[in-house]
Amino acid sequence: METKNSGLLIIFSGPSGAGKGTVLQRLFELRSDCVCSVSCTTRAPRPGEVDGVNYHFISTETFDNWVERDKFIEWDRHFSASYGTPKEFVEEQLHSGKHVFLEIDVNGGQNVMRKIPGCLSIFLMPPSWEILEDRLKGRGTETAEQLEKRFSRARFELDNRQHYAYTVINDDVDRAAQLISSIIDAEMARTQRVPSFQYN
Ligand code: 5GP
Repeated sequence: METKNSGLLIIFSGPSGAGKGTVLQRLFELRSDCVCSVSCTTRAPRPGEVDGVNYHFISTETFDNWVERDKFIEWDRHFSASYGTPKEFVEEQLHSGKHVFLEIDVNGGQNVMRKIPGCLSIFLMPPSWEILEDRLKGRGTETAEQLEKRFSRARFELDNRQHYAYTVINDDVDRAAQLISSIIDAEMARTQRVPSFQYN
């Protein structure tokens, strides 16, 4: 999928509640060459979520149809809903030189790593388990049973961190966003990415 002159495809994972959305928002204020792929999901929007911004909220029928037509880079099911990364948007943005973030879970992330070897992978960690628990509870939109499911899912995500090239600890949103920006700059300075020029 990637070409030599294209932007980076960046897999961005971390447990629910790690602050992925907030950190990306800060990063996008810092630099205009980064975009986030908007995933499709069959789950219902949570209060405050906007169609086309947080997710494309689509029917199960449409989702299954798109799976058949190979319109997703990857897709998976979580909590009895389906989630997928639409191909077309990502390809367009990469070719225009933008760095495209895929905010996906560790299974989806590893699927993309296998399919697209040149991609960059960053894992966002909360500073501690206690802080993560508080952040998950703080949302107040889930029942006790749903919360326990989220805790065990968070443990699973943390257990898979070693598959990622970089880990960024989200103890401070500005610092985390700055660090990700530096990682992007360092990746773009890799020798194989920097074109040569004529010399005698
Ligand atoms: P939530 O419903 O809390 O927004 O997301 C539930 C899970 O789905 C999270 O772990 C999130 O990272 C994952 N997810 C969101 N979009 C995608 C996607 O496009 N593909 C995959 N595989 N997982 C996704």
